[in-house]
Amino acid sequence: MTLYFEPFDLRLNHAFGISGHTRTSTPLVLTRIEHEGYTGFGEASMPPYLGENHDSAQRFLAKVDLSEFRAPAVREDIQPVMQYVDGLAPGNTAAKAAIDIALHDLLGKLTGEPCYRLFGVNPDIMPPTSFTIGIDTPEMIRKKVKEAAPFRVIKVKLGSDHDREIIEAIRAETAVPLSVDANQGWKDRDQAMEMSHWLSERKVLFIEQPMPKEDVEGNAWLRAGSPLPVIADEACQRLQDVERAAGVYDGINIKLMKCTGLDEASRMIARARQLNLKILIGCMTETSCAVMAAAALAPLCDWADLDGPWLVANDPWQTPHLEEGRIRLEEGRPGLGLIPRQKT
Ligand code: MG
Repeated sequence: MTLYFEPFDLRLNHAFGISGHTRTSTPLVLTRIEHEGYTGFGEASMPPYLGENHDSAQRFLAKVDLSEFRAPAVREDIQPVMQYVDGLAPGNTAAKAAIDIALHDLLGKLTGEPCYRLFGVNPDIMPPTSFTIGIDTPEMIRKKVKEAAPFRVIKVKLGSDHDREIIEAIRAETAVPLSVDANQGWKDRDQAMEMSHWLSERKVLFIEQPMPKEDVEGNAWLRAGSPLPVIADEACQRLQDVERAAGVYDGINIKLMKCTGLDEASRMIARARQLNLKILIGCMTETSCAVMAAAALAPLCDWADLDGPWLVANDPWQTPHLEEGRIRLEEGRPGLGLIPRQKT
């Protein structure tokens, strides 16, 4: 197997605000792994606050030599490759995911199976995907709620000084269920508890990362009294973090870019179920490639937040099909089922 990679700038439809940051594009590195005429595609998406970038990912990927590994024939063949990749250097989780995703796409193509079937997933129980609205002015928020019409859940970024105004601006336009992501923006536990009660009366499904991840005690205290489930995102990156989330959070947000890809994500799902944790599967701003990889596991999760392709302007792949707000897993296409977008 031979690995190729190239940098790519993914442009966002709107400047995207979360608690503490705003940006207009996201650096990606696109990967492909080739074997005997078959090609698996992958991607690293690297929002700047996570510490990876074009240079770091390319430096990491240049170290990866897949020539000694045989091409995967079953899913278990990917594990030793990913163990080798993970052992090359700490961190670099998005660059690692770019290899894992390409390996799964390749395996699907080599076996003629769609990726979701490699995980034994039932595509008919796909949770609806939320559409994310960043921190913005009430006027822009109203505009974005209109863009969110094909989606059945809206995810709202909070953690600013006008959280209630944002929720009220959305609630004036739509009655769809909301999920809330504070991105560690609530610094005070009493304020967080008050917000949870206030939000629970406004058809909110859960709260993601309400307080700083370092405040384990505060998050556990909130969880114990919160009427809404409290979900770990920044506090849960990889498999070993799942254990730590139990007792502090009601659930975890799994993202391929945090956990090095589908191989580890599938093990996080299994462990989270043993620990009775709820599971959200999320994404960064990323193309249909990484999102279809995550979608292959989404039927194993309680909620999905896989709106990347709908937030970006230059996805090299055709946008996935939505049915009643759910991403459709395509039965007839092997691997991730990606179709290149025609250049216009
Ligand atoms: Mg989050």
